[in-house]
Amino acid sequence: MALDPDALGQELHRRYRGRFGTMEPIGPMHSYPLTTAFARRFVCHRAALVGDAAVGMHPVTAHGFNLGIASVRHLTDEILPLLERGADPANSAALRRYERRHRRESLPIYLATNSIVGLYTDDRLIARAARRFGLRVAQTPPAHKIVNRILIRPQVKAPRLRLPGIGGRLRMG
Ligand SMILES: Cc1cc2nc3c(=O)[nH]c(=O)nc-3n(C[C@H](O)[C@H](O)[C@H](O)COP(=O)(O)OP(=O)(O)OC[C@H]3O[C@@H](n4cnc5c(N)ncnc54)[C@H](O)[C@@H]3O)c2cc1C
Repeated sequence: MALDPDALGQELHRRYRGRFGTMEPIGPMHSYPLTTAFARRFVCHRAALVGDAAVGMHPVTAHGFNLGIASVRHLTDEILPLLERGADPANSAALRRYERRHRRESLPIYLATNSIVGLYTDDRLIARAARRFGLRVAQTPPAHKIVNRILIRPQVKAPRLRLPGIGGRLRMG
C-alpha cells in the first residue's frame, strides 16, 4: 500500500517475472485483511448458514469454495427428502443434523488450515525446518495418494427432487 502506482506496477512485473508483460495499475488500491471465521451456530429458527458465512477459511489451502459446495450438499441431503414428502424443509431437527455434520466435517480442515498459516508466518528456525520437511513429504507419492483421496470423493448419485404440485423432476447437482 505504501507504493505509488508506477512502483506497484514494477513490483508486480518483477514478482510475475514479466510473464504478463508490463503491469499498470488502472484503479485505486484497496487492502483487504484475510480473516477466517467459524460461526458459533450454523442454524437457527428456519435459517441456515452455508459457504463462507458458516466457515470462512484462509485461502492458503484453496479449500474454501470446496467447503462451500460441501455445505450446500450437506444441507440439501437433509432438506430434499422433506421436500419430496411435502414436509416443511425448515424442520429444526433436520437443520440441526446439517449443523452437526457440517461442523464435524469442516472443523478438521479449518484447524489444519489455520496451523499451516501459523507455520508459514513463523520465521523461527524450527518453523522454517518444519516447512522444508513438510514440502519434501508433500511431494512424495504416498502423500499425493492421501491428498487425492481427500479431494476426489467417490461420485455420489445426484438426488432427484419431485416437488409437490409440479409434474416434472428437478435434477440437483
Ligand atoms: C484471496 C482468496 C483466494 C481464494 N482462493 C481459493 C481457491 O483457490 N480455492 C477455493 O476453493 N477457495 C478459494 N477462496 C475461497 C472462496 O473464494 C470462498 O470460499 C467462496 O467464494 C465462498 O463463497 P460464498 O458464496 O460462500 O461467499 P462469497 O463468494 O463471499 O459471496 C457472498 C456474496 O454476498 C454478497 N453480500 C455480502 N453482504 C451482502 C449483503 N448485506 N447484501 C447483499 N449481498 C451481500 C457479497 O458481495 C458476495 O457477492 C479464496 C478466497 C480468497 C479471499
